[in-house]
Amino acid sequence: MTNRIYNFSAGPAIMPTPVLERAQRELLSVDGCGMSVMEISHRSKRFEAILDRAENGIRDLLSVPDNYRILFLQGGATMQFSMVPINFLREGTTADYVITGAWGEKALVEARKAGTVNVVYSSANSGYRSVPDPDELSFTRDAAYIHYTSNETIEGVEFKYELDGGGIPVVCDASSNILSKRFEIDRYALIYAGAQKNIGPSGVTVVMIRDDMLERCPGGLHSLLDYRKFAENSSMPNTPNTWGIYLIGLVCEWIKSNGGVGEFERRNIEKAAILYNAIDSSDGFYSGHADRAVRSLMNVTFRLPNENLDIEFCEQAAAIGLDGLRGHRSLGGIRASIYNAFPREGVEALVQFMRDFAERKG
Ligand SMILES: *Cc1c(COP(=O)(O)O)cnc(C)c1O
Repeated sequence: MTNRIYNFSAGPAIMPTPVLERAQRELLSVDGCGMSVMEISHRSKRFEAILDRAENGIRDLLSVPDNYRILFLQGGATMQFSMVPINFLREGTTADYVITGAWGEKALVEARKAGTVNVVYSSANSGYRSVPDPDELSFTRDAAYIHYTSNETIEGVEFKYELDGGGIPVVCDASSNILSKRFEIDRYALIYAGAQKNIGPSGVTVVMIRDDMLERCPGGLHSLLDYRKFAENSSMPNTPNTWGIYLIGLVCEWIKSNGGVGEFERRNIEKAAILYNAIDSSDGFYSGHADRAVRSLMNVTFRLPNENLDIEFCEQAAAIGLDGLRGHRSLGGIRASIYNAFPREGVEALVQFMRDFAERKG
């Protein structure tokens, strides 16, 4: 095998090596059929089985109830920023948005194009370091839905509880922490995730939607913006991302064979604790971005005493095989993304490097 390095990229992100190896083995002939998964009809029995594997994999790992459909769409999580309001923000209704970071902000911009939106919480003024306590939130009576982002990938801010809409449908962008821990799916009307953080490659988005929400979709929508068309046609009103769906199935099998979501939650808590401990025990050389209580298990954000040191840190880390640590361009600093597929040894290697670097420069 060629040498793999430790890839801290936020997304597209590290994939489990056994999944890549299996995909490599199966690339020329999937299930012994003499064709690549990229070469077979999406209407074939063979692909039906591949689609079922991905769907059942997610259903099984997250105990998705029977009254939810699992759909595979294209257009990324960003497409959902538009599709959610286009389907559910009716004339004369409003939607409530909880904004805890840059992705929520982007979702808000798209929702405003569709109708009236209330921002019921925003931590923008304090630099997106916090999430609201449940009792800080009050929602608009009769809101069509509430939208929030369970993990803000850029700032590294994560909800430690699942938001309760008190009867109002809750829509959640879980792109960067889906499958990283247990979710109670029945709390959501719709939950979506672009695959390239924690489930697979880019170009495919998982949507879990409760049946009654499908009935709320208005008539006359363009087919590819209509959740019902995806539900009625097993995610295939047109040609889906067959390769992406195939890899999602393999990732689900990999998670299951390693103990399931609960086991990854345990590992993720451990991995994140190692890194946050290194930050907190650096005498202020490294400073974390998020408030301690809402630090993300997936995206660990911090900075050094100045920007030049941030840059030097990333360059030197990359030189020893710790790649992708540069913070998002809007925030700067360092971001270590440590999704399910990211190994504990890589976290330990980074912490060792952090200690060495601080000793040399501190
Ligand atoms: C990456 C990300 C997105 C955007 O995903 P695309 O697939 O590029 O559209 C949206 N929300 C969150 C939370 C993300 O992490």
